[in-house]
Amino acid sequence: MAFTRFDKGDNDMKQLPSVVQRFLRYVAYDTEASDESTTYPSTEKQKELGKVLVKELLELGLHDAAMDDYGYVIATLPGNISNQSVPVIGFISHVDTSPDMSGKDVKPQIHSNYQGGPIRLNDQYSITLDQSPILANHIGHTIITSDGTTLLGADDKAGIAEIMTMLEVLISDPSIRRGKIKVAFTCDEEVGGGTKYFDVQKFGAQYAYTVDGGGVLGEIENETFSADSAKIVFSGTNVHPGYAKGKLVNASKAASYFVTLFPDKKSPEHTEEREPYMHITGMNSAVEKATVTMILRAFDEEELMRQRKAIQEFAEETKKRFPKVGCEVNFSESYRNMKLIIDQHPEVLDVAMEAVKKSGMTPRLTSIRGGTDGATLSFKGLPTPNVFAGGNLFHSRFEWVAVEVMEQAVKTLVNIVRLWAERPKK
Ligand SMILES: [Zn+2]
Repeated sequence: MAFTRFDKGDNDMKQLPSVVQRFLRYVAYDTEASDESTTYPSTEKQKELGKVLVKELLELGLHDAAMDDYGYVIATLPGNISNQSVPVIGFISHVDTSPDMSGKDVKPQIHSNYQGGPIRLNDQYSITLDQSPILANHIGHTIITSDGTTLLGADDKAGIAEIMTMLEVLISDPSIRRGKIKVAFTCDEEVGGGTKYFDVQKFGAQYAYTVDGGGVLGEIENETFSADSAKIVFSGTNVHPGYAKGKLVNASKAASYFVTLFPDKKSPEHTEEREPYMHITGMNSAVEKATVTMILRAFDEEELMRQRKAIQEFAEETKKRFPKVGCEVNFSESYRNMKLIIDQHPEVLDVAMEAVKKSGMTPRLTSIRGGTDGATLSFKGLPTPNVFAGGNLFHSRFEWVAVEVMEQAVKTLVNIVRLWAERPKK
């Protein structure tokens, strides 16, 4: 079977691994977050999936499973050993999907026994190896995609399905020794609000793992960017252009001059790996007022400060060129590199790396060119690295996940639990 279309109610569904069945169930819920909303969660529909998760957690036997007003679903799996020194471990993933691409009416396509080459989504779109060279590692595997009209939602419903399946495995096999486990499913991660109301104290875990990483087997992320945003407001004076001589001051001209001062090689489209970037995210410009919004990203906080300084200098230069234009520069801190915290708790990373090995893979430590809920949580006192979840080409119609990677992620999570329980007392 080279290509199968998946329909709800299909009998084949029962033959799929539990983690996949869950995943297909969860992606059917539209949980798209909104960056324009002023409510929390940004879209009420995220709670619909939350309700399903509460029900499933209760059915699994996690009796305290509940969703709070913010849409956070939290539950506890009690430990099965008497050793009080085993720390409480948390597992976290997010229910929402990115507003960059529609998440409504997702129709998952199952491509069994992948034979290489592009994967056709529909008449118009295919996933190519150029876009996703990692596909080459998945010959013979089962790939899940959308039908090309929506995103898939592997980010982060793959993570949810993996955590739920981990619980199922732990409960059905009491021979696996475990301490107390906490799980949390959060909202609005994609619009920067994933942990806004997350009460670390109440959650009660000493260490946690977000299951929100990509599709590289064995990959653990311990580092994020440090991130700021900047808003530069130019102000001018508007007069009827027919009678404007010597009076009109055009803020738009100053703003457009300002943006040309940024070296192109520092833009996101010209940077990768550990390189920092400065990104102009928007311009809103008229004669009276022109606003430039930017985001600044660097792994190193000193570099971030250099970026702030560069923006100040470009603003100064613009003022010199347009002396009558007013200019105001404002920075705000978004998040900080979580490595600063995780380095103080090496055991949280050691266990994850060991769990990957124990599951038959080679661990790979990487950094995220972005943020994660784990960064905020780490700074709130809960060290939280990120574990691979399986998704690729996030936030787009090309998003895909390999079933085999999801199964390996479940194994890794179970081994994380096992290893914490086996760890000698310190
Ligand atoms: Zn995510």
